Amino acid sequence: MDPDAISMSAALAKISARVRSVQACERLPIRECLGRVNNETVLSPLSIPPSANSAMDGYAIAVDSLATAQVTEFEETGSAFAGVPFTGCCAPGQCVRIMTGALIPDGTDAVIMQEQTEITASGKIRIDSNHRVGENIRQAGEDIQQGDNVIDAGVRINPADIGVLASLGIGRLQVKRKPTVAFFSTGDELVSIGEALEAGKIYDSNRYSLYSLLSRMPVDIIDLGVVPDEPDSMRDLLEKVTIQADLIISTGGVSVGEADFIERVLEQIGEIDFNKVAIKPGRPLTMAQINDTIFMGLPGNPVAVMVTFSQFVIPAIQILSGAELKRPVLFRAKANDKMRKRPGRDEFQRGIASQDENGDWQVRKTGKQGSGILTSMSRANCFIVLDTENAGVEPGDEVNIQLFDWSW
Ligand code: AMP
Ligand code: MG
Repeated sequence: MDPDAISMSAALAKISARVRSVQACERLPIRECLGRVNNETVLSPLSIPPSANSAMDGYAIAVDSLATAQVTEFEETGSAFAGVPFTGCCAPGQCVRIMTGALIPDGTDAVIMQEQTEITASGKIRIDSNHRVGENIRQAGEDIQQGDNVIDAGVRINPADIGVLASLGIGRLQVKRKPTVAFFSTGDELVSIGEALEAGKIYDSNRYSLYSLLSRMPVDIIDLGVVPDEPDSMRDLLEKVTIQADLIISTGGVSVGEADFIERVLEQIGEIDFNKVAIKPGRPLTMAQINDTIFMGLPGNPVAVMVTFSQFVIPAIQILSGAELKRPVLFRAKANDKMRKRPGRDEFQRGIASQDENGDWQVRKTGKQGSGILTSMSRANCFIVLDTENAGVEPGDEVNIQLFDWSW
């Protein structure tokens, strides 16, 4: 138990209190709006469908003819196709051959599925008496009524939204501008891909996982590279980048080691909200404001980077981009492995979840759980979320899991 570490919920409250949505918007062709945050409520300019039409291939009739006139054999008087309506009138005892999507002809009020009809020797259409008004008819406006609110402000546009907009003839949408997110790695041990790996050096992986995480978000990305463990250059860089970036993310340098300078620099140029959160992995996690820019200092360990990104950076980006806050959905699953844990922190172990033959969720660990073991993330499909009080899990116990969804 670390008395200086704040709880996850306290950290999330501080993020909500600190981060503000970008204000600027742009009006874009709808195909460019996928994944962007809608800025204005979209009211429908028309009804969908605009007129009643057939949901089936079959025959349009007046149901009255069945009930009162006891007609069972109908004379086919014409055809109605999608886009080419039947323009005549359908008298009692007559039917219209109709295809899916065709307008319902005047004088008819039901469509009888082709499969439920028979053609008699004399070419009439035989229909049994078991039918009701409105059968197989899509009514005008049954999906959307003119004036309906179809997409709320703050919604992140998904493929179906784009289809809905197209169905309404709407070609452009006003969305929030993309926030700019800059990121860098700290650490004198880091070398980039392509450079020789001398003794004590490691390849920088955090910038690559961060880039990949960010590339699924509606943000513009600035990769600032590796910054040496040196407070003056770090301070200069941070101050300069606040001019362009809405959010700056760093990894490493936030613990208590002698080469961990972030905290010291933030005390000079920023306003710190917190610097430790009671989670594992990821306790040394810093948030601050520098000028008008949010700064999030993630730990150096690669797994801790992804855990803290999923739990804290994603909510910050949601607020920044003007989207509604969406909290992760947790499922209950049966643990197949023993899991060691001490009370005091929320823990995010890496798991592989699946459904057993009854459809019940079960989960096993990906193996070693150290915060430097990045393959524990790449092999996982979920976090096993163990809350603060949890003191260990035995096989057969129920645990919470959070399936990975990196697109938020
Ligand atoms: P730090 O918080 O800077 O002490 O880093 C904690 C651990 O994470 C150290 O073992 C670092 O070598 C490692 N680490 C820090 N940054 C990176 C990075 N960008 N890529 C891979 N490992 C890193
Ligand atoms: Mg370091």
